[in-house]
Amino acid sequence: MITRSYPQVQAIASDISTTAPRDWKAQLAGAIRDPRELCQQLGLDDAWLEGAEAGHALFKVRVPHAYLSRIERGNPADPLLRQVLPISSETDSVAGFVSDPLEEAEHQPLPGLIHKYANRVLLITSGACAINCRYCFRRHYPYADNTPSRQALDNILHYLRERPHINEVILSGGDPLASSDKRLGQMAEQLSALESIKRLRIHTRLPVVIPDRIDSQLLGWLAPLPIHKVVVLHINHAQEIDDNVIAACQRLREAGVTLLNQSVLLRGVNDSVAALAQLSERLMDARVLPYYLHVLDPVAGAAHFDISDREAIKLVEELRQHLAGFLMPRLVREIPGEVSKTPLY
Ligand SMILES: *Cc1c(COP(=O)(O)O)cnc(C)c1O
Ligand code: SF4
Repeated sequence: MITRSYPQVQAIASDISTTAPRDWKAQLAGAIRDPRELCQQLGLDDAWLEGAEAGHALFKVRVPHAYLSRIERGNPADPLLRQVLPISSETDSVAGFVSDPLEEAEHQPLPGLIHKYANRVLLITSGACAINCRYCFRRHYPYADNTPSRQALDNILHYLRERPHINEVILSGGDPLASSDKRLGQMAEQLSALESIKRLRIHTRLPVVIPDRIDSQLLGWLAPLPIHKVVVLHINHAQEIDDNVIAACQRLREAGVTLLNQSVLLRGVNDSVAALAQLSERLMDARVLPYYLHVLDPVAGAAHFDISDREAIKLVEELRQHLAGFLMPRLVREIPGEVSKTPLY
């Protein structure tokens, strides 16, 4: 497999990056964690504050400034704002919306390991996220219990060695890229040393939330890995993709990474043919191919984002008339107990 050496990566990236990468950890630490500050910075009037406080009590506000800068001030309908601002509906109890909608607790053979599908496993690499998305199906997840220690990782490696039909490891979370590069590098090296593992996949929102996360330290362990590298980004709206995100994607691509995107279909965020078409086109600007469009997992506190299957299918049928086939995401649902995601269309 051909991967470019890292110095070239940096040279290319700096050509199109408007500002030099800044320390991502400082940006993470400086994220807004107070609903009042969020409302103030975005010029939202006090009417929003009560709901924001109530939602925050259930699942904390977290918005880094790099993401905040893409939100339009004074616009409560902004599609990015809706993903991060808690509202009073989050406190509603709605039938069918539960704390562990995917019943993942039942598919954990070891702490930190989810094995639901035959040939691929999901490794909970970090409990933390750079941003707290209000629709997240892990909003009630007991993260702290699930970040693998060194011993847990040894056990996971043993599990994989005994099951050579597993050929892909997915680093998930939380957000796996919230972990340190030292830890990720060691983990990736140990996983890629297993003969049966052909692919390392990373599901992350960090390159979108804080594009400077894709820095020389990260590329330093990622680029040289001897197996296929796939990064599945999580972008829901075209407005999330600014020039810094495009530059981060380019750095990943030059490190030999295949880039895909998954989105969640969210009421008030991307539930129109226009928004979905723009998202796919904008992803292509960043050379990222759409992979999945998930219908919402029925997690307690997120019912106000829900779109019915009928509506979702209608949107996607119409979307097909506007996009090249390869820019069409697959509309899927995750059903507990199924052996793969379930296509809806
Ligand atoms: C979604 C998911 C995967 C990956 O499924 P793909 O269809 O290959 O993207 C693997 N394991 C779990 C537990 C998942 O939820
Ligand atoms: S796991 Fe993903 S969707 Fe959930 S809060 Fe973290 S970044 Fe957002």
